[in-house]
Amino acid sequence: MHVRSGKAQSICDDCGRYVARAARANMLPPKERGVELEEVDELRRVHKEFTHAEYQFARDHWVLAREHPRRCIADIIDAPTACRFHMPKANRRAQHVPKELDRESRWKSKVTGCWDSFTGLFLYVARTALGGGPNLVLTVLHHTLVAIAAKRGFLAELLFLHLDNTVGENKTDAVIGAAGWYVERRHFNRVIIFCCPVGHTFTDLDQSFSTLIRGLFGVAVYTMDMLLKVCARVMMHAKRRYNFQGIQELDGLYNWTAFVTEHMHPLGGYATGQQGSGMHLIIITRDAEGHARVKFSQSSQSSTFFPESGEGYRLFKWDKPPEGPPPLAGIKKDADWEKEAVIGTVRRWYHYFVFDSAEELQRAKNDWETRFSTVPSLPPWVELPVCCGDVPTRVPSVGTGCTFKTAAAAASFDLQAENPPVNPIISEERTHAMVRDELEVRHDAERTATGGSLPPVYRSDYIFVRLEASGPLELCQVPRSSMYVPMSSCLLMFTCFHS
Ligand SMILES: [Zn+2]
Repeated sequence: MHVRSGKAQSICDDCGRYVARAARANMLPPKERGVELEEVDELRRVHKEFTHAEYQFARDHWVLAREHPRRCIADIIDAPTACRFHMPKANRRAQHVPKELDRESRWKSKVTGCWDSFTGLFLYVARTALGGGPNLVLTVLHHTLVAIAAKRGFLAELLFLHLDNTVGENKTDAVIGAAGWYVERRHFNRVIIFCCPVGHTFTDLDQSFSTLIRGLFGVAVYTMDMLLKVCARVMMHAKRRYNFQGIQELDGLYNWTAFVTEHMHPLGGYATGQQGSGMHLIIITRDAEGHARVKFSQSSQSSTFFPESGEGYRLFKWDKPPEGPPPLAGIKKDADWEKEAVIGTVRRWYHYFVFDSAEELQRAKNDWETRFSTVPSLPPWVELPVCCGDVPTRVPSVGTGCTFKTAAAAASFDLQAENPPVNPIISEERTHAMVRDELEVRHDAERTATGGSLPPVYRSDYIFVRLEASGPLELCQVPRSSMYVPMSSCLLMFTCFHS
């Protein structure tokens, strides 16, 4: 789940680099400018083809789930910050609320959407005090799966989860572990977690959130109960069809993190990589003994997986997965969500509530007072059906068909699509030291191979740079976001320690 500002969407590192390079090219003499712009155009084209292929991979599963619901369930989960509701709220067009009260902190909730390809859109509201992160993502997922199973009576062989490439929430041990738990419990035979590159997430969910915000704009909403009703009305009557399945307030979150991670073998190295933004494709399957195993690759277009052979890394130390439900997740401390201040503000708002009758006003007040004293509770647990079919065959993804005019374009494609040369994954079989040592051996070999020419530099290397012909030497360190391959000046950015 990626929290995005309501304004411009952030662009990916590659797109950012192309924009910067094209802008810099304008400072060059006409002839060189032409050559430079042509190369940037070529890189852009390859990047576009690559991101389109990634999109197509997700799209293939989306369609598969819609046409063959027993084979695949495809879900997208996301939550933009623009949908961080603050209650109560006035009707801005019709009602005036003192500025002083307007600035006070109100009751905050986060809205999360889960869009199921076959069934439609599910919305969830979680008050800030419940916290977020993987526990929220996974509680939303479980509730949605329960609803899908209740509606049609079965799940599918494959669960395809389309998430944003965020390290704090989606690409975590907890999400991978929960997927492994579903697989070991045989609710699915396989789970694919697919993280779109930041800046290239293109889901209809954003559209539905905009609809929601627009719909709420001219309406006074005094209580959470009213909020749920108004949201439901807006979504049901939206011009666009969302197959809206309802909005639900969560009374508590499952602590999936505690439930699965303490039983997991060490796992790491997948979130950030030697190149790009880590692994984007995570596949969890079950071996003959019934153990969940995980494989990673940098993109859906990659020609290899980590590990390169075998069924994947074993996820859990346990012999048998525990039965649900996971325990209740801890709530934030009162001070962390300004409990006293929030209650004070809401009570002062009572004077500005406009209702048709005294009974309605009283009901709204009671609603809040009950809410203030309610403690979070474990959501009711419903056992999911077991999938009895075979492991489905791999969905064919559409190849990019990229043609490279230049070596730079080919290298750029490989950097985006292909796995890094050294397996970065830390697991039961691979320690951090093993990964580090292999990487060092590889780097040394490449440095030696370049002979007399400029040797390649790698992340964290210290290098001396002269920024101007007559300027002083500067000591710089190659930052994390730099590429793994031998770099040309246009790709390199520095952190200078002194000048
Ligand atoms: Zn991009």
